[in-house]
Amino acid sequence: MAANTAFVIVGAGLAGAKAAQTLREEGFDGDVVLLGEESERPYERPPLSKGYLLGKDERDTVYVHPPRWYAEHDVDLRLGVAVTAIDPAGHEVTLADGSRIGFEKLLLTTGSSPRRLTVPGAGLDGVHYLRRLPDSDSMKEAFASASRVVVIGAGWIGLETAAAARAAGAEVTVLERGELPLLRVLGREVSQIFAELHAGHGVDLRFGAQVAEITGNGGRANGVLLADGSRIDADAVIVGIGITPDVQLADAAGLEVDNGVLVDARLRTSHPDIHAAGDVANAFHPLLGKHIRVEHWANAVNQPQAAAKAMLGQDVAYDRVPYFFTDQYDMGMEYTGYVEPGGYDEVVFRGQRDTREFIAFWLAEGRVLAGMNVNVWDVTDPIRDLVTSGRPVDAKRLADPDVPLGDLLERRASAG
Ligand code: NAP
Repeated sequence: MAANTAFVIVGAGLAGAKAAQTLREEGFDGDVVLLGEESERPYERPPLSKGYLLGKDERDTVYVHPPRWYAEHDVDLRLGVAVTAIDPAGHEVTLADGSRIGFEKLLLTTGSSPRRLTVPGAGLDGVHYLRRLPDSDSMKEAFASASRVVVIGAGWIGLETAAAARAAGAEVTVLERGELPLLRVLGREVSQIFAELHAGHGVDLRFGAQVAEITGNGGRANGVLLADGSRIDADAVIVGIGITPDVQLADAAGLEVDNGVLVDARLRTSHPDIHAAGDVANAFHPLLGKHIRVEHWANAVNQPQAAAKAMLGQDVAYDRVPYFFTDQYDMGMEYTGYVEPGGYDEVVFRGQRDTREFIAFWLAEGRVLAGMNVNVWDVTDPIRDLVTSGRPVDAKRLADPDVPLGDLLERRASAG
């Protein structure tokens, strides 16, 4: 390979694979090198805490592309390869074996890593984190035999794995240090609904819980001790206490880093030939007028496509509204929009909260910041339109299921 002509992607997860795909779809015929530390080819993560963990989805369904896709599209996928350094000025990356690869453009899709629990006993066998495919395999195996599961953290991982553990028949206790599950993301009104959902499925939710120690016997976890002295028996302990972006390479290379790799709306870092996308990118969002880092699947699908186009010199700005979804028990939901913790003044519900068929809207000064449809489908587009319009809506009509969502903006537009 000639030096400094390749487009190199560091991080062979969903975001890296989507970037490689877009480069080819856009007609790029130069060298594309996709470097991954894991031995698995790129896969999607949502099934790891949902369908695959529940045993509903086959392993083959989690991969982004079949194995032959990479050769067919002349993408040089190298797995089990760790990049140890980036030299922005020299336009090359160094691998763990000391070899170097020159790049014309570089994309960082290095993702993130689970935050680790630091209490005594955190390293015992039977303490599980969920990030990679083998983590989901070992969790599934643990659920098959565990009768008591303790989940630490009532975020997305905590709640989805709690639902999977219940489905496997285990007794489940969820320990959350905050007042409610998902409180920072959803606010009190909607967090409460998730708490009720899990309590209704027999989960013992404990809030304000301070984990003091994972207790063990013969090197295996057998319970969790709380700071108040209470102890909960466990055959398996799941830790889902958030993630931190993998910025080490970018940081060491002197790129600007602040809660992720800082990028502009074109996903370009502080070096013009280096871009970043996915969990690791703290990107300027033109609609919101500030940097946000989005740790969800849809961002890992869409943002690298924009980054790849920008690498090819196209004039792009990544302005998609964040979107994510979850499935827990018989409740499915999609969330579209973005709300800072506490950054709303009203939540408007449309539909039935008691039967969990509704849409919740977060508003500030009458404008819709985000909407979450629960067991109501095919409404993502109108919700996104409401969010992107930035126009105030009539809260009474917003709450009225007989008023089509699309009419809320039209009426305002014709009135105004
Ligand atoms: P998360 O959603 O950020 O939730 C972590 C939770 O753990 C928060 O409620 C946090 O409370 C709590 N916590 C932190 N330290 C704790 C401690 N020592 N003891 C008890 N609770 C503690 O992170 P996650 O669930 O680990 O998920 C990891 C990433 O995967 C996230 O980026 C998430 O978005 C993504 N993910 C997304 C989906 C989806 O979109 N459906 C599904 C799975 C995973 P504080 O808020 O007080 O810090």
